Amino acid sequence: MAEQEEPQLWQTAAPVEFVPHLDERTEVQALLISTRQGAGFAVAAGQLGHALQSRATHLLMDYSQSACAMRYQIDGEWEQLPPLDREVGDAMLYALKQLCLLNPADRRSAQSGKCTLKLGKAKFTLVIQAQGVASGERVLIKIEPVDVPFERLSDLGMRDKMIEALKQQLDSDGTVVLITAPKAAGLTTTWAVTLGAADRFIRDFQAFEDQEQPEPETININPNYFGGDTGLTEPELLRKAVLKEPDVLLFPELPQPDSMQLALEQVEKHEKQIYTRMIADSAIGGLVQLLPKYRDSAGSLTKKISVVLCQKLVRRLCDDCKVGFEPQPQLLKQLGIPAGRVAMLYQPFVPPPIEQQVDENGRPAPIVPCATCGGRGYVGRIAIFELLSPGDQLRAALMKTQDLAKLNQIAKSEGHRGMQSEAVLTVARGLTSLEELKRAFASK
Ligand SMILES: [Zn+2]
Repeated sequence: MAEQEEPQLWQTAAPVEFVPHLDERTEVQALLISTRQGAGFAVAAGQLGHALQSRATHLLMDYSQSACAMRYQIDGEWEQLPPLDREVGDAMLYALKQLCLLNPADRRSAQSGKCTLKLGKAKFTLVIQAQGVASGERVLIKIEPVDVPFERLSDLGMRDKMIEALKQQLDSDGTVVLITAPKAAGLTTTWAVTLGAADRFIRDFQAFEDQEQPEPETININPNYFGGDTGLTEPELLRKAVLKEPDVLLFPELPQPDSMQLALEQVEKHEKQIYTRMIADSAIGGLVQLLPKYRDSAGSLTKKISVVLCQKLVRRLCDDCKVGFEPQPQLLKQLGIPAGRVAMLYQPFVPPPIEQQVDENGRPAPIVPCATCGGRGYVGRIAIFELLSPGDQLRAALMKTQDLAKLNQIAKSEGHRGMQSEAVLTVARGLTSLEELKRAFASK
């Protein structure tokens, strides 16, 4: 008798609905009807349902002669899945390309497209990029929620004292606020959450955005557009906008030097505030990159920057299966944690080898993986935040040197707690593990 085949992953999850990006309702219907006739529609709907259920943000498919290798990215880490048969994988890709308005028959050219996914009430944007390669074809699918859930700084893992300190700076007139994060580490999320923490009800916030790269809407922040078909440059737009005397000037992209000079005048003469953001690996690193971009106003900028926020993402330990252990005094000393401060540190649960998973009579008793994290030991990510408020010595040094080690030393002497020591606090709070820190800090 033939062995019962294991169900494929795409057969195990609730399927998604597809919404192609077409203007006419009738066109949408016609496309869905024709795609459903293909064998790959059900595979695509089920596989994406499984991806969402697994909290995957990316799906990578590598087609070779006999199979389609599959990987998910979950919380920033790639995971291998069982491969699909080539035939099944081909059918799925054919359907996905149809739904994203690409040419499904073309397996060579670089193609990219989009469609919307619905699962229950939740909506997601799917972006597909396909490219023929020597061995076959490589396809990357990104899945992002359409409505980014409103998060607070505490949800992202910021400790209470830091939230207080940051809020105070966000609401201080006559200052410059700089928000930074390394590449692909959630800068836009932190920016949105930071804006959410600022008091936008009493003060007038005006954002200056490239019409071709508009920002998501935020309550009580008024967007102003330059470029595109506005016929305005950024400095022209800003010159007009400051006549209305807004309290906070927001630049989601670093402003051009002329705009920065104009905005700094508002800060110095009229106690207005600037918020801006950039990619940087650390708070001091951000300052060192920022100042040379504004040679003419570096002095004023250095004087007025009141706070630089930086963040790094790490995976969050699963609360349902993390394992506590009593740290050795030697380890605490290494981490710089005073003795007696932390009784327990946590690490992910790692099951013993399968042959040791037995009951008291020595019979095999496989351990069921934790339902919350699927046995990964981690669920979601948290940010480790570094908050720098430069003191007089650091400001003076920034005008003279770009030497990071020297600048870090001065910041430390002014009481600044760097990213590494913030990271240790996150471990002491039981939010992540030492091994995860090692991994996260070694990767860059
Ligand atoms: Zn778990």
